[in-house]
Amino acid sequence: MFCIHCGKPVSDDAATCPECGKALPALATPANARQADGHPANDRLDAASPKSRAALSLLAFILGTLGIHRLYAGRMPSGSVMLALFLLGCIGSFYGVGIFFVLPANVWALIDFILALIGRFKDGSGKLIKNW
Ligand SMILES: [Zn+2]
Repeated sequence: MFCIHCGKPVSDDAATCPECGKALPALATPANARQADGHPANDRLDAASPKSRAALSLLAFILGTLGIHRLYAGRMPSGSVMLALFLLGCIGSFYGVGIFFVLPANVWALIDFILALIGRFKDGSGKLIKNW
């Protein structure tokens, strides 16, 4: 190709022109091109998680408030937060404030349950859990 600034021929993969030193517009390199047309990059993202959607849905339904389904899916941080909410709710119930912890955990669990059912729940590595 040719430099857009000075018109001198430059190599196709050059980021700057060796003649005038100005930056050249980024070309679609083979790696970029493959990402742009959505192949290897998206294939990896769209790959289904090896986790079971049935187990996830069941866990979210029965033990959802405890965050067990998130731990099962490999989402340890948010699963731990959910479990902590539940435990705080248990302790809080002695002081009449348990509902403030358990209610958000319940709503969260319900949303997770719906996401699990429709196959939109992601595991710890970002893959959708869609295989039953
Ligand atoms: Zn140039």
